[in-house]
Amino acid sequence: MAKPAIPPQVPELCLGDEVLVARTEGIQTIRRGRRILAIEPETASWTVMDPGSWEVFTRLERPVLFSVLCAGLPGLGRGFVASVVEQLHRLGMVALNGRPYHDLGTLWPDRDPSGPRFLALHVTHGCNFACSYCYNASGGNPRKGMTAEMGRRILEKAFQELPASQLSFDFLGGEPLLAFETILEIMAFGRDLEQKYQKSASFLMQTNGALLTPDRVRCLREFRVGVGVSLDGPAEIHDRNRCLQGGGPTHHRVVTNLMRAREQGLSVTPLGVISEPADFPRVLDYLVEELGFEVLRLNPCSSLGRARGRFEAGGERAESFHRGFMEMVDKAWHHSRRTGRPLAVLNLSEMLVNLISKRRDQMCMRSPCGLGDAILSFSGEGQVFACEEYEEATKGTFYLGELEELELGALASGSTRVQALRRRRVENIPRCSRCPVRRFCGGGCAHKALAWSGELLREDPMCRFYELTFTELMWRISDEPEIVPALGGLGNASN
Ligand code: SF4
Ligand code: SF4
Repeated sequence: MAKPAIPPQVPELCLGDEVLVARTEGIQTIRRGRRILAIEPETASWTVMDPGSWEVFTRLERPVLFSVLCAGLPGLGRGFVASVVEQLHRLGMVALNGRPYHDLGTLWPDRDPSGPRFLALHVTHGCNFACSYCYNASGGNPRKGMTAEMGRRILEKAFQELPASQLSFDFLGGEPLLAFETILEIMAFGRDLEQKYQKSASFLMQTNGALLTPDRVRCLREFRVGVGVSLDGPAEIHDRNRCLQGGGPTHHRVVTNLMRAREQGLSVTPLGVISEPADFPRVLDYLVEELGFEVLRLNPCSSLGRARGRFEAGGERAESFHRGFMEMVDKAWHHSRRTGRPLAVLNLSEMLVNLISKRRDQMCMRSPCGLGDAILSFSGEGQVFACEEYEEATKGTFYLGELEELELGALASGSTRVQALRRRRVENIPRCSRCPVRRFCGGGCAHKALAWSGELLREDPMCRFYELTFTELMWRISDEPEIVPALGGLGNASN
């Protein structure tokens, strides 16, 4: 049987003859040849069983005394049966004398213990690009954005009112580098606040990279900004979607700036948006083999903003993404074996973390997600939203109020709007409530579900991708457990 992830506390097991062994309800199984994948959804446990373990498992359809179980399996031996039962117990798949291994009341905390600590500042809606799939259809007047005064006010309130001792500020657009001077003022103020409140701040930015000049890179490096640069792969893929306002390719400029920024010592991570599922392996090749990145992010393109209507969201496309993604996984694994170094495609690493542990650090892959709890976002006009991702049509649902009227630290517990949003949990979403991977996936993104279906209590439009990919990764890990550290599944997952 595949080795399960061992939770931190392992109580003493004493499998005496009189112990009553009872299988947990709801375990789902998938056969592949002689092996069986068993998933216990509520505790997010899984294992791949060989025929011997399966034989033990099938005898547990009704509660049975351990001595009776062993007597019915004379060919397997008491020691083997005991080891299978112990493993199944630790996996949450059997109870012993009525006692489950996990305490479901505490396994999946309802709240982020530190409260909101990811603060997204939409510093401008303007953009110098006109990407064909831009999710918030950026490109308005770059002068109409967040003022430095507004940014300072947001930071002061965040430092003052939020309980977290480490706060992370993410500058988003449009294209945030169009508001570079404002961002510098806000970050300088943030450094002063660190002293005043004895808390620390980190800064992030997601940019299209075209305005990443050497001078700006020096400033960003001084403030230790982690910069995500949107690069969709080689020119023939990138330039299909990422074009200038008024047309024209952008690849050459983005790559030149990205590579120079890396040489200058800035922490840069390429982010590729994959619009054609079959591009996954080619984009990985380009970013890893040709440009030499070993930490990157490759996100399937969502049908939001300008991409609405252009790509059909839902099952078929999600299945194509799954196939492309798994080809990419094979390539990444091959690369890591060849070089002997880990390769972290962060969205894959985050899935691996969820598969081998009960940690749910990634706020978009747990239930309920970080919405209004781990994350808050702020518009240039001082409106506060429950997440950084929203469209014109959906922003009303995520709107929490005006900065000056809100006590930021009380939102998670005191805002009826936040509480309503946080009812989006896997147990309340019809399809997710029956899904074997619900505690690995978390039901996907609340915003994408809303934007796609008009309902919050719906599964993510990429649901099939998650179902298939989590399950396939279980088989892969069972075959080659080394894939987990090799592909960043032990420590590279971000927020
Ligand atoms: S979104 Fe789909 S894969 Fe994820 S928990 Fe819901 S039903 Fe399962
Ligand atoms: S709404 Fe989506 S993007 Fe926002 S925290 Fe939830 S899962 Fe993440």
